[in-house]
Amino acid sequence: MSVASFNDSIKEGAKTDPFRLIGGWVERPEDIQPALEGDVRADVVVVGAGFAGLSAALELRALGAEVVVLEQEFTGFGASGRNAGYLAGSMGVEFELFVRRVGVEQATKIVSFYDEGVAYVEKRLVELSIDCDYRPSGIIRAVVHPSQEKKLRHDMELGAKLGSDTRFVDSYEMRARGIPPAFLFGCTQHGGTLDPGKYVMGLRRAALGAGIKLYEQTPLLSYSEGPTITCRTARGSASAPFMVLATNAYTPQLGLLRDKVAPIRVSAIETEPLSKAQLASLGWSHREGLVTPHLTMESHRLTARDTLLLTTKKLGYAYGSSTPNVPDSAAYSALAQTLDKRYPTLRGISLRACWSGYISLAYDALPVVGQTGPQQNIFYTAGCSGHGVGTQSLVGSLLAERIGGIEHPLLSALRHKTPRTLPEPLQWCLMNAALMGANALDHLVNRKVKSSANG
Ligand SMILES: Cc1cc2nc3c(=O)[nH]c(=O)nc-3n(C[C@H](O)[C@H](O)[C@H](O)COP(=O)(O)OP(=O)(O)OC[C@H]3O[C@@H](n4cnc5c(N)ncnc54)[C@H](O)[C@@H]3O)c2cc1C
Repeated sequence: MSVASFNDSIKEGAKTDPFRLIGGWVERPEDIQPALEGDVRADVVVVGAGFAGLSAALELRALGAEVVVLEQEFTGFGASGRNAGYLAGSMGVEFELFVRRVGVEQATKIVSFYDEGVAYVEKRLVELSIDCDYRPSGIIRAVVHPSQEKKLRHDMELGAKLGSDTRFVDSYEMRARGIPPAFLFGCTQHGGTLDPGKYVMGLRRAALGAGIKLYEQTPLLSYSEGPTITCRTARGSASAPFMVLATNAYTPQLGLLRDKVAPIRVSAIETEPLSKAQLASLGWSHREGLVTPHLTMESHRLTARDTLLLTTKKLGYAYGSSTPNVPDSAAYSALAQTLDKRYPTLRGISLRACWSGYISLAYDALPVVGQTGPQQNIFYTAGCSGHGVGTQSLVGSLLAERIGGIEHPLLSALRHKTPRTLPEPLQWCLMNAALMGANALDHLVNRKVKSSANG
């Protein structure tokens, strides 16, 4: 479907044809693992088979633990199978909020946690022989209008004070690199892009190979606390002295972190593969992942299958922290319009897919990682906003180490008091007002881009 007809169909309230319920990267595995039947015991039960859950499970297994993983649908069903595949460090995180909340010293350690996430994933891809089309091209945070320079420079300066290593890329270098002309100048950082579906399925393959018992199609329904935690599912139970809730944006639905994180819907569109001529019209030979300093950032990248992927632009919050798996036509339409604006040489290109998924966000934008229960034997991880490819993988490893008896300094650095979220309907009002405000301010920047193009 072309971008124009896609927009028309949305205006008419019609179908969103290329919508994919499970995102654009993964399919339901052919060897989907059977649901849990009966009662099983283990050393650790991990709930959620995304980057965090599978990384934790693999590291725990390497320490010699018997591990059971419960996944409500199948591996990669959550954000890990739906994201844009940026393996990015600390660039673009909310430095100012971090400092205000925990001070410079702790913020510096948290920034290094974000950066370490990149190195951790790069190491694991090699160790586990996962081929996920990783391209260490670096990530560029690029402005689309000169009015964004102030924010870009400010973030760079504050980030540098906190140890975030970025370099300014001027317009000459941008053009020399062949970055599409809509992106004027910016800053770059180590990292790159990958196929998140292949990454998460690579973790799954490694987990099954390591003897981890993975039960897919097995939602955790409830759990009991105590020295032994019993996780109840539809037709059985899994018990262990430790549990890791790696359920991220879905965690509030289990009754935990309800007052700490809010699930935020993030959307993506992906074009059909570009022809050789279309690719040549873009230049962009190193295929750097691009993000913008809009309040709701845009992200733009080419994939290994020569498609162009755009994400974010319009975020959503559903009443009561629910996570409905439904299309977000307004977000796809906004992304499709952005595609048209930023890439005039691609006008008329068809969309292969569009989809949405959920990240979780704390009011202070900091990761929410900790432990709870009378025995402090229930570990959880959420937050990390839109930076989970690196951070959630690393957190899985840090939690495994912690359960093994060692607390890594990066894990200690994450400990802080997360602000309480508001009860409904206040949270719905606050979230939607904040998202609308951000959209309105971003719209002003985009109007300036349009008028400079016309002028
Ligand atoms: C559109 C989009 C684009 C993004 N782009 C990027 C990006 O480019 N770079 C980046 O770093 N981050 C990005 N992110 C964020 C990143 O994908 C997440 O932070 C990360 O995948 C979270 O991993 P996770 O393992 O913690 O959670 P998830 O991947 O969400 O995994 C949680 C799992 O728990 C399962 N589950 C939930 N409830 C239950 C239950 N009751 N019982 C059993 N299982 C349950 C779910 O089915 C799911 O599989 C993006 C996210 C989205 C949605």
